[in-house]
Amino acid sequence: TPEHIRLIQAVAVQAAIAIQNVRLYQEAQDAAKAVEATNLELQKALIELERLATTDKLTGAFNRRKFDEILSVEIKRALRFSTPLSLVLFDIDHFKTVNDLFGHLNGDRVLVEVARLVMNCIRSSDTLTRWGGEEFLVLCPGNSLAQTTEMAERLRQIIAQTQFPDVSNITISLGVSEFHPGDSPDRFIVRADNALYHAKNNGRNCVGLALAA
Ligand code: GH3
Ligand code: MG
Ligand code: MG
Repeated sequence: TPEHIRLIQAVAVQAAIAIQNVRLYQEAQDAAKAVEATNLELQKALIELERLATTDKLTGAFNRRKFDEILSVEIKRALRFSTPLSLVLFDIDHFKTVNDLFGHLNGDRVLVEVARLVMNCIRSSDTLTRWGGEEFLVLCPGNSLAQTTEMAERLRQIIAQTQFPDVSNITISLGVSEFHPGDSPDRFIVRADNALYHAKNNGRNCVGLALAA
């Protein structure tokens, strides 16, 4: 009857609206999931970007740019809380000969292994930076010169006792320095550099102490 038709039409309109709503809801849910996935990808990309911008590609140690940032924070902290701050600068002995005798690729492997050994040995508050070609720097917040000198000696022994595949043994020379209030960052590092120079002049494979500078 016309009455039945009118009723069915009314039900059909309601059903169509309900079906449309379900479809829209499904589409919105799919879109939300896609946005979530994209956000996750973006976050991963940001973390990777941060890693690339702050670390050395070969060894995974921090680069100098990141070191400058960390050093500035740690100097402020040391001054504010009157806590010690020290660093170790070290350089692989006769590394040119390692490259000459065993090839650049094996030289690279030595750099990677040295960084790995040192990272395993330092505290989580210490940071390893690749300072130059075969020079590295460990910044030790909270450690005095004496404590950092002990740590430097431990690093020296670990490297000297390690058998590096294809290369056998290598040694490192180290220089230690403690931050003095009033030091510029450069002065703090130059003292370690001078100490390292003394270690090299002292026959290498040893820890040099910073003289007043
Ligand atoms: P010393 O004991 O006085 O430090 O002697 P050394 O031969 O280690 O010092 P020198 O500064 O003469 O040579 C450093 C060498 O390090 C030269 C360079 O070829 C090498 N080197 C620097 N960066 C890298 C690198 O990324 N990979 C490799 N395989 N070698 C590197
Ligand atoms: Mg060097
Ligand atoms: Mg060297």
